Amino acid sequence: MANQAGPVCRLCRREGVKLYLKGLKCMTKCTLDKRNGLIPGQHGMARRRKTSDYGIQLRAKQRARRTYGVLERQFRTYFAHAERSPGVTGTVLLQLLERRLDNVVYRLGFAASRREARQLVSHRHFTVNGRTLNISSAQLRAGDVVEVREGSRKILPVKLAQDLLQNRAVPDWLTLDAANLKGAVVRFPDRQEMEQVIDEQLIVEYYSR
Ligand code: SF4
Repeated sequence: MANQAGPVCRLCRREGVKLYLKGLKCMTKCTLDKRNGLIPGQHGMARRRKTSDYGIQLRAKQRARRTYGVLERQFRTYFAHAERSPGVTGTVLLQLLERRLDNVVYRLGFAASRREARQLVSHRHFTVNGRTLNISSAQLRAGDVVEVREGSRKILPVKLAQDLLQNRAVPDWLTLDAANLKGAVVRFPDRQEMEQVIDEQLIVEYYSR
């Protein structure tokens, strides 16, 4: 399972927005605002300079990739898939990212971050349509049912995430049966139900250069 390694707060600093990569800590101990917009690295003390069109497109792509925790090659594969599919390329791309199993687990509130969701999935804590599935990139379709496995219901991350969920709504394209730790995909997400900090048109422009 490939994952983005290294400290993750620097990714938020680089993108200049909270990407919520650390789950509960992002709600209580985020230091992004205190850094006052400084980017990480040796020249991080320098103020941001005017960015070229290419730089803006690159940042949009990186922001999306880092939000969903997808590596470069896989992200490019998603884009190629979206380009071949009917519909608006940028929207299809975001739908592919949203329909990943780790994202659905996060959206349902069974994990406090996508990163944590990915780890829980890889540790076989979830079933999809009654069968254990440990592939975090698995694409879910309308009608698929995701459930916390019987033996995993008392593990701490799931319980903590459930508490967190009380302050976070489940989007309309999913349904949640919180009592039974079970959720389902109702349909594909609409644009307004997906990440608002991402500008998918800039990503299309980046790959169309
Ligand atoms: Fe770190 Fe989370 Fe804040 Fe990002 S949002 S800087 S991951 S604490």
